[in-house]
Amino acid sequence: MSIKAKKHLGQHFLTDENIAAKIVHSLLQEQIPNILEIGPGMGVLTKYLLQKDKALFLAEIDSESIAYLKDHYPTLTDHNFVGDFLKTDFGFTNGEPLTVIGNFPYNISSQILFKIIAHYKQIPEMAGMFQKEVAERTAAVPRTKDYGILSVMVQAYYDVKYLFTVNENVFNPPPKVKSGVIRLTRNPKPGLEGNEILFKNIVKTGFNQRRKKLSNALKILNIPENLKNHPFLGKRAEELSVEEFISFATEWKKAADQSAS
Ligand code: SAH
Repeated sequence: MSIKAKKHLGQHFLTDENIAAKIVHSLLQEQIPNILEIGPGMGVLTKYLLQKDKALFLAEIDSESIAYLKDHYPTLTDHNFVGDFLKTDFGFTNGEPLTVIGNFPYNISSQILFKIIAHYKQIPEMAGMFQKEVAERTAAVPRTKDYGILSVMVQAYYDVKYLFTVNENVFNPPPKVKSGVIRLTRNPKPGLEGNEILFKNIVKTGFNQRRKKLSNALKILNIPENLKNHPFLGKRAEELSVEEFISFATEWKKAADQSAS
């Protein structure tokens, strides 16, 4: 017996064992004691994760999947299941670090990535599969059409490696798009600490009008007077590297503090 895929839950079950094993092997940091799989479905990745000597947690919202997993992998109990990924606070590890893995539900891809960033202090590594376009956007470099909010926000906290592309035909049912597997390795860029809200605001607002120069795109944020000659304001958002966005946010804060005093 297997599960009938539910479209509203983003269910596309991977049927290729080699690819499943390859995704699990793309995790490199074996010393991390806890692992969280998002969306285990029928357990194609889970069975490899169970072979690891780690505490395994499963975020799954489909009760039919949960029943299937408990039935097929009898070592799994209620203790392993932590519910909706978007609602968890990761309290189940008692503050210990955890790795995140999954063939993720594509309908919530960006939310998954933003939640990982928000908890980067607890999550040293993530590996998994998104729709190819999201994987590419996450890994994108400046001056490309894929480079945007997702690229800068994720790369501010993690090094991103695009690992490999997966074809539609290895899923049941096949998704409409190809998939891409990426790995995130925590490496927060210096200069972010204490200025993260402003940084995020500048990145989001800058890319919201990505064709415009930053002097125009950022106007609604009230550019501080002392910053108005900054060379970056003559550029477009996609021309700035992650490091440049961070130093720009730092100088912005300085200039704002000066004009306030
Ligand atoms: N990993 C499996 C299933 C992938 S399909 C495989 O590779 O075959 C995506 C899975 O994510 C589904 O099982 C779906 O029920 C689950 N899912 C969807 N939204 C979720 C959420 N918010 N939290 C946790 N799991 C979710």
